[in-house]
Amino acid sequence: MKEEELFRKTLSRFVDQEIMPAAREIDEKEEFPEAIFKKVAKLGFFGIRYPKEIGGEGGNTTLFCILCEELARGSMAVAAFTAMQCLMGTDFIFRYGTEDHKKRLLLPALKGEKIVAFALTEPEAGTDLSAIRTTAKKVKDGFVINGLKTWITNAPYADCFTVLCQTDKEKGLKGLDFFLVEKGALGLSVSTKFDKLGTKGAPVSELSFDDCHLPLENRLGEEGKGHDNLRAILAEIRVMTAALSLGLARAACDASIQYAKERVQFGRPIGKFQAIQMKIANLATDIEASRLMVYNTTRLMDQGIEGMKEASMAKYFASETACRAADEATRIFGAYGFSMEYPVQRFYRDARFLLYGGGTSEILQVIIAKELGL
Ligand SMILES: Cc1cc2nc3c(=O)[nH]c(=O)nc-3n(C[C@H](O)[C@H](O)[C@H](O)COP(=O)(O)OP(=O)(O)OC[C@H]3O[C@@H](n4cnc5c(N)ncnc54)[C@H](O)[C@@H]3O)c2cc1C
Repeated sequence: MKEEELFRKTLSRFVDQEIMPAAREIDEKEEFPEAIFKKVAKLGFFGIRYPKEIGGEGGNTTLFCILCEELARGSMAVAAFTAMQCLMGTDFIFRYGTEDHKKRLLLPALKGEKIVAFALTEPEAGTDLSAIRTTAKKVKDGFVINGLKTWITNAPYADCFTVLCQTDKEKGLKGLDFFLVEKGALGLSVSTKFDKLGTKGAPVSELSFDDCHLPLENRLGEEGKGHDNLRAILAEIRVMTAALSLGLARAACDASIQYAKERVQFGRPIGKFQAIQMKIANLATDIEASRLMVYNTTRLMDQGIEGMKEASMAKYFASETACRAADEATRIFGAYGFSMEYPVQRFYRDARFLLYGGGTSEILQVIIAKELGL
């Protein structure tokens, strides 16, 4: 507990001093903020959830979520590329990569010397992974990949990609496998970055594979286990996204409280009006509930319990809370919520990002109902 408090305190100072003042420029420039990436790396944050023996920081899921929450309070773009680097982009290399992969790619990624990405989504396959059509065909000396991935965070700058491919069409979800593809591989092309609504400093682009040859050892995990292995980190992806949501909701609520104290109408600060008080009281209550859900889930995970139901509920509740908090903030700020001078418009845009990754709200409701036996 003491370690967690200490970590949050140090981190919070870093976010206040280094991330918050840079957040507007990161958003406006719409470029990957290399200098901030290096600062996050220098503090060892990218290795937070990996054992010390392999060059990580030896932290647990609770510490990882504190990192996500605090960074998201400062800048969702920074939090988004950090989360990608800490979890989805590196986890499969850690679990299933060869010693050579770990030495050349994982360790440098944990030090921030390499950028990593994770590619599931395709134009026709978002929530429905059984629709994946990027194929990996086994040949004598390895695999040949063909297909298209889209919406891939960090892709324009990434040094390597963990890519989900169909290896056996007949087997449905049991015919999926992950592959490690390095930048520069023959047959791989990376599109220019997309123009998108928010998280503008965490660029996304498409990957296309045209007879991209990979050696045998680049399949990550046992044959046919791609979907099962994804499920092994799915609860963590969900609670991580819930923690990102919590951070953004806090930022929107903090900004609203400050503005409600400063903005005077009818001779009083607007925070003295009951209508504004009720908005803020409701937000603070939902934020507290999100916090309890996030850290209840991480504590289960830190005891080795999967926590899929709890993580799904936390992601669903916290991401909806973040969207509501950003929306209410734009109302409390009045016209200034519509101005690019204030950060609430950024919260409003960035909050939408939280709705998709790790499962949309609609699909999470389906999953929660299933967990409840329906
Ligand atoms: C900024 C950003 C970054 C991203 N980064 C990555 C990345 O790094 N790697 C990656 O692989 N992907 C990434 N994604 C993609 C993201 O994971 C997908 O958007 C997500 O999986 C949802 O898929 P979709 O957008 O195709 O929506 P769809 O699956 O097409 O869903 C559309 C709508 O239908 C609903 N729906 C779908 N199926 C059901 C169902 N069975 N029951 C009820 N409702 C349903 C959904 O809830 C949604 O409302 C990113 C997306 C964004 C916006």
